[in-house]
Amino acid sequence: MIRKFIRKVFSKAAPGSAMETRKTSRQIISENQHTITRKQLNPCALKVTDELQRSGFAAFIVGGAVRDLLLGKTPKDYDVATDATPEEVRNLFRRSRIIGRRFRLVHVMCGAETIEVSTFRGAGVEEGEDSDDGRRVSNDAGRILRDNVFGSQAEDALRRDFTINAMFYHPGNGEIWDYHNGYKDLKAGVLRIIGDPRTRYQEDPVRMLRAARFAAKLEFTLDPAARAPIAGMGGLLKDVPPSRLFDEMLKLLFSGHAQRSLKQLRAEGLHHGTLPLLDVILEQPQGERFITLSLHQTDLRIKEDKPVSPAFLFAALLWHEVLTLSKKIEDAGERSIPALYQAMEQVIQTQVEMLAIPRRYTATMKEIWGLQPRFEQRAGKRPFALLSHPRFRAAFDFLLLRGESGEIDMEIGQWWEKFQHASENQRAEMLLPDTEKKKRRRRKPKIQQTGEATPAID
Ligand code: ATP
Ligand code: MG
Repeated sequence: MIRKFIRKVFSKAAPGSAMETRKTSRQIISENQHTITRKQLNPCALKVTDELQRSGFAAFIVGGAVRDLLLGKTPKDYDVATDATPEEVRNLFRRSRIIGRRFRLVHVMCGAETIEVSTFRGAGVEEGEDSDDGRRVSNDAGRILRDNVFGSQAEDALRRDFTINAMFYHPGNGEIWDYHNGYKDLKAGVLRIIGDPRTRYQEDPVRMLRAARFAAKLEFTLDPAARAPIAGMGGLLKDVPPSRLFDEMLKLLFSGHAQRSLKQLRAEGLHHGTLPLLDVILEQPQGERFITLSLHQTDLRIKEDKPVSPAFLFAALLWHEVLTLSKKIEDAGERSIPALYQAMEQVIQTQVEMLAIPRRYTATMKEIWGLQPRFEQRAGKRPFALLSHPRFRAAFDFLLLRGESGEIDMEIGQWWEKFQHASENQRAEMLLPDTEKKKRRRRKPKIQQTGEATPAID
């Protein structure tokens, strides 16, 4: 209780206090010096900041939303930073919940929207929810493992990744509080890391992926100092928990600028041996056209606001891995279908060791892959069964992509396109002669152990 009181008094005094100004030089960009207006802001984010401020807390819109609004883009989501503790935020909003164990945040809901509210975080010695001593802990490589500690607003700005991501917008008076010259960098189109780049990448190697993503998405120049160490530090990504890597890769692949982001990663030298998925995407000569096409389609769909499916994209990115391995297994004497299934399992296994692709996605990926050979069967009842398969649509789109990339003849995709939309009679005419059936009929009867002959059952 006393701790809480001290923290509150301290954090209230913090913004602008002597202690704070000693550490950083905060600049204030007043309402009439920038382009953000209250009207542009998300009503849910405004409701949250207004309510917090009415209750006597500091509350700012922070990070990506401020950056995007200044660039004239529509923010994907809004983050709010405050000096209220997660419990205090939780108590203010009926529809809210505390999430996360290491980094406790509050999700405040209005309608279908969610605003993420986080308490100013810093490097101070404060008690965290699940930490025993509340101290910042780092491993030998300097990576931060646990940093659930509250801090001042200046400290909160300092722990953020890039200068353009560390600006706070005050919805009460329209000011932007800028601790690291983010506004100047934004105007100059420079992506600059806060602090010493090597140290910051060591603390959190994911920042290297973020550097490539933001540079590509915003078409900003990555500051040479932030750029130089990446090529030599990619190996650190191996220590990042697979679930975090997956989240960050998902952001990169679905940023609407996947192609450019990946080019950027290649330019930074962040590919070989850092992530199996990146090796596959960036260094696979056989599947290059297929991968380029699938990334291009994804970027396009995002720009057009069409739904995208991570499982489909991951299936596409890894398809040529599956094909190559499957061929190897077949060459060693396995039949084609079991070879395909074994290859699918192995390719997924290799990926999930570093990238935690959720099971719901891998299950769909396997279905999409597993259905591909079935498109070749165009006789008898089989095409009808495939048509009514719940994954037919995704598997068919995948087939078209294979055709477009030149892997298979386009004719097969065209046949299926026509078959889907044909009448019953037309469909019957389209079916190919059932050579399989004749083969099956000719098969010899199986002999049971009792010695009796029984017909083969398919
Ligand atoms: P996007 O448009 O992709 O959402 P964003 O800047 O909002 O961009 P988020 O991943 O949503 O990115 O993170 C929100 C904010 O949290 C960032 O703007 C940055 O200030 C901070 N942040 C996120 N990840 C890191 C990190 N790895 N290291 C330091 N700060 C981070
Ligand atoms: Mg964001």
